[in-house]
Amino acid sequence: MESTRYEGRDYRTGRPFSVGVKGETITDVRPENRAEPGLWTAPALFDIQLNGFGGYGFNEAETSPESVAQVVRSQWRAGIGAFLPTVTTHSQERMLHSVRAVTDACRDPRIRRSILGIHLEGPHISPLDGPRGAHPLEHVRLPAWDEFLRMQEAADGRILLVTLAPELDGAIPFIERLVDAGVVAAIGHTNASANDLDAAIEAGARLSTHLGNGAHSLLPRHPNYIWEQLSRDQLDCSVIADGHHLPASVLKCILSCKGVERTILISDAITPAGLPPGTYPAAGGEVEVTAHGRISLAGTPYLAGAGAHLGQGVSNLVRMGVASRRDALRMASLHPARLLARDDRMGALEAGKLANLIQFSWTEEGIRVHRTMVGGQVVYDDGAD
Ligand SMILES: [Zn+2]
Repeated sequence: MESTRYEGRDYRTGRPFSVGVKGETITDVRPENRAEPGLWTAPALFDIQLNGFGGYGFNEAETSPESVAQVVRSQWRAGIGAFLPTVTTHSQERMLHSVRAVTDACRDPRIRRSILGIHLEGPHISPLDGPRGAHPLEHVRLPAWDEFLRMQEAADGRILLVTLAPELDGAIPFIERLVDAGVVAAIGHTNASANDLDAAIEAGARLSTHLGNGAHSLLPRHPNYIWEQLSRDQLDCSVIADGHHLPASVLKCILSCKGVERTILISDAITPAGLPPGTYPAAGGEVEVTAHGRISLAGTPYLAGAGAHLGQGVSNLVRMGVASRRDALRMASLHPARLLARDDRMGALEAGKLANLIQFSWTEEGIRVHRTMVGGQVVYDDGAD
């Protein structure tokens, strides 16, 4: 098998280097002595929370293997080499439909390489306004292990991450069973007390999903579930950096408190993300997209999800001065891989890892992706070099 070298600029050091690729694997990474550093080169991004993009999504009645594939292609163009399609609170029938569409799409090996698994966000979340976010109240329900097993069977075992509210009846034994089944349990859309959070951690929960969002507009100054989760070192946290969900000051505080290593960047992008301003139908009712890419449930102040992909999140973190380029990229590649125990093969440019990489330039707006490679195959190339 032929091996190919990709020259570029190391995202960790800014220095010229090259990456050898043979088949689907990186053979070696070495420094180079060139005057021209070339394109920035980093691991392809990995988004553990993506609901849709560009008019296609995973939670629609029309969701099909083809619409799933459309989302995958939109992500390749943006430098996201892998992601977890995120199936959100709805009827069991609809959620099964979503899971089956994703599973069918994975029959195509190119699609399968980019869909590492499924994130179930709900339906076992808080019914309260605020914590529930944009999830439809009529479909919120208590944990039921039988239902999870049906979903997991329809998914061919692809469900890797489940977000739920630990204060619900039956949530703690449900978390224990998830952990026993090798599924990562995450806390989110919750009104949990400190005791609920401790019980969830004891049961094996490891992540706070989009900390600071899916929350009441007004909270007691302390104690509250945001401070409490921030203070639990056992929990990683995921954050949305689309410029609307969290102000720079809050992102800075979360990062200072959790540390870069325990922070994961997610997009939480939804179906109308990337579309022109307007009103669009969505799973939880109509949503409004503004000129600035803010997406809210029409007629409410509640965000319905994000309008920016993960690459824009990386760019925003850097532009806000909240993280270095290297750290922002790690939070969107290595850290999610580590949460899901995929860091043996993904999330870094090292010999033996999958050749999932991006080549890009840093512009004033942030990252502009020129090439995306997944498993040694170029899945996007803008033709400019
Ligand atoms: Zn959410």
